[in-house]
Amino acid sequence: MEQKDRTQGYLLPELETMDPQARAEYLDRKVVEIVTYAYEHAPAFRAVMERVGCQPGDIKGVADLAGLPITEKADLVNLQRQSLPFGGWAGEPVSSLRRIYVSPGPIYEPGEAEYEDTRWAQAFYAAGFRKGDIAQVTFNFNMVPFAFMLDESLRQVGCICVPTGVGQTELQVQIMHELGVTAYLGTPSFLAAIAEKAEGMGLDLKKDLKLEVGFVAAEMLPESLRSELEERFGMLIRQSYGTADVGCLSYECYHLGGMHFAADCLVEVVDPETGRPVEEGQPGEVVATVFNKSYPLIRFGTGDLSAFTTEPCACGRTTPKLTRILGRVDQVTKVKGMFVHPGGVQQVASKFPEVMAYQLVVTREGHRDVMTLVCELAEEGAGGEDLKARMEAAIKEILRVSGQVEFVERGTLPEGCKVIDDRRSWD
Ligand SMILES: [Zn+2]
Repeated sequence: MEQKDRTQGYLLPELETMDPQARAEYLDRKVVEIVTYAYEHAPAFRAVMERVGCQPGDIKGVADLAGLPITEKADLVNLQRQSLPFGGWAGEPVSSLRRIYVSPGPIYEPGEAEYEDTRWAQAFYAAGFRKGDIAQVTFNFNMVPFAFMLDESLRQVGCICVPTGVGQTELQVQIMHELGVTAYLGTPSFLAAIAEKAEGMGLDLKKDLKLEVGFVAAEMLPESLRSELEERFGMLIRQSYGTADVGCLSYECYHLGGMHFAADCLVEVVDPETGRPVEEGQPGEVVATVFNKSYPLIRFGTGDLSAFTTEPCACGRTTPKLTRILGRVDQVTKVKGMFVHPGGVQQVASKFPEVMAYQLVVTREGHRDVMTLVCELAEEGAGGEDLKARMEAAIKEILRVSGQVEFVERGTLPEGCKVIDDRRSWD
């Protein structure tokens, strides 16, 4: 097979490398368009606008959206129970749809007649997928939209889809081998299972299998697992982030360092309490507005916590990046006015191999929040002032709030305790 350049280029150069000012104007236009459309066609969105006393004419761009409440998954479930099937969020009558998907909940999702969303396809291209790739989709094709979206998007890139779905590892390996599959789509853990199975079947992962690129999602991808799999198969593995409701929101490029915002949707990172955008580098909830007229979700709260950066990327894409998914919004605690999340605490602890177990305890002294990282050490009695000072500096640097460190005897912390224990009482 001819050699493909999988390390550069774009699916939609104009959109992906747009000058940031031009993109801001483009997004303003798209937001006005979808707000106007949804107000007319999606009764649930009209109700949101009416609740805050807003008319479509009041939304002149992205900045004005901050005044609108965030719709969470739980709201969708409730609305659908009141008004089946879509709770008033569909922008088209059922008769014009191609599919109706069912996500856990159950939540019904309208599937448009013509799939024109390019965001997963952008992600594939950034992951190195090219025309002619034979792509094995091991995500679930049963009820939920994700694998169908991927199938449609593979077609946009010119790849051939092998819709194997989940499970049956041995058969999956056989198919991969016999068809000369070059692209994998699935979870990282299933790819690891495929590696084990293929070797067990006496296959050489590099010679007998032809995998060159992998697109993984739906699970955390530890860097150690990525490099192990890339090495064993001799392939590139890139991940992306999105949800069944709003589709692809961000994806990695060849150069890594976070996940580029998908072009052609609006991704915001907001303070979960006020709904206002947070500054670059600050943790906040990922909130998405999509321009899909069949399902025009506006300010949909993913419940996932991340942060963004606008640092330029060597790939040439000009979209900001989500740095990484830090956890769920409902695990976040506000301390001294700053959001502290389990992922940040883990990041602090991981810098100190001496630490065996830890818990961040938040208490209140008078009107002041006090944050204490309680640690058990691998070596009893090894916790000196020097270690304490270095850990407190790391807390300040990573969590951006000062806190103290306390060393306790092994066995003090309950096994499997939660990362943050908020003991403040507010009555
Ligand atoms: Zn990039």
